[in-house]
Amino acid sequence: MRYHNITKDDMLNGEGLRIVLWVSGCDHGCKGCHNPITWDPNGGIVFDTAAQDELFEALNHDYISGITFSGGDPLYLGNRKDVTALAKLIKARFPHKNTWLYTGYRWEEISALPVMEYIDVLVDGRFVEDLKDPKLHWKGSFNQRIIDVQKSIKNNSLYLYHAE
Ligand code: SF4
Repeated sequence: MRYHNITKDDMLNGEGLRIVLWVSGCDHGCKGCHNPITWDPNGGIVFDTAAQDELFEALNHDYISGITFSGGDPLYLGNRKDVTALAKLIKARFPHKNTWLYTGYRWEEISALPVMEYIDVLVDGRFVEDLKDPKLHWKGSFNQRIIDVQKSIKNNSLYLYHAE
């Protein structure tokens, strides 16, 4: 897997203060995408052990609520294996942190993926410029949904996430 950046103390991409991993690779091609530089799966740099150490060190602060996977699309086909392994490792090492993931896929297409076992909140769907509203919290356009993943899996039905 390749990535562009690790943001520390992010307040926009999920609840609380978060670490955000911006991975490379996305083939959704949403018009008006804010981050087209991340589309190329060969862009950015390799996510190596040094990057993983940096991520874990940043996550290890009490004031950090958790990690957000964004990009690019963490569920771009070429990213799925590595993102699943990393999300699993983070859950094991930081069981009290939560994990959010932003994807251009819709919940119905990806809800059965193994990675979902390690995700708490999923923001799904492509960015649709005609449905955008800067006032929206944690998402860019109205069609996107903020999903409580574990509750949805347990009940076999979609449940939106509500902040505590
Ligand atoms: S899914 Fe996200 S990164 Fe990919 S094109 Fe759409 S807005 Fe951009």
